[in-house]
Amino acid sequence: MDIQTNLKKVLNDLPPHVKLVAVSKTKPVEMIQAAYDCGQRDFGENKAQDMAAKFPQLPQDIRWHFIGHLQTNKVKYIAPFVSLIHAADSLKILKEINKQAIKNSRTIDYLLEFHIAEEESKFGLDRETAEDILKSDEYKQLKNIHLCGVMGMATNTDDVGLIHSEFRKLKETFDYLKSKYFPDTACFKEISMGMSGDYPIAIEEGATIVRVGSKIFGTRN
Ligand SMILES: *Cc1c(COP(=O)(O)O)cnc(C)c1O
Repeated sequence: MDIQTNLKKVLNDLPPHVKLVAVSKTKPVEMIQAAYDCGQRDFGENKAQDMAAKFPQLPQDIRWHFIGHLQTNKVKYIAPFVSLIHAADSLKILKEINKQAIKNSRTIDYLLEFHIAEEESKFGLDRETAEDILKSDEYKQLKNIHLCGVMGMATNTDDVGLIHSEFRKLKETFDYLKSKYFPDTACFKEISMGMSGDYPIAIEEGATIVRVGSKIFGTRN
């Protein structure tokens, strides 16, 4: 497993405006350190306790991305240091993130997760529910969280056309929200989409962040 070679290959595929989050979930800190030593600074984890355990063992300038579904009782583990929460999908979780951000005297950046796949999933918002959240008075009172854009996952399929159309849907949702709610908000700019199997398609459809794991660190058990 040559992490340096894999990382270079992936970085080579990315235009300069696309950021790579190296998804290190289930992988040991030694492998993260190896990627760090090649210059990688953004890493993604999907379990709060795993991320909290790795954080103190690695260089402090790593930007930690939480990419999984976040449960309210786990926010406290990552709130002191998380750089970006990718998959917020309810007012309830936003309230908890805000509460923990206040406790830590900081603001926390996050993305709203949208359900774009044809596949069944419990997670991710539809546009209407997202707008209900954005328009609510409760939401407007959350001053310690900071919305930076949207995130989504395409169906796990060989149907390239389907993947294109799902990513295009997320880009359209981003454009819609941007023009309606955030036309003058420069920091509402991220579209997090694309994994090892589909990131080139995501880039074609407008991704600004791709989340790539197994193509860098090898397959997971
Ligand atoms: C695991 C995971 C990834 C990376 O998946 P790979 O196929 O290993 O690149 C990206 N995004 C999310 C949300 C994940 O859970």
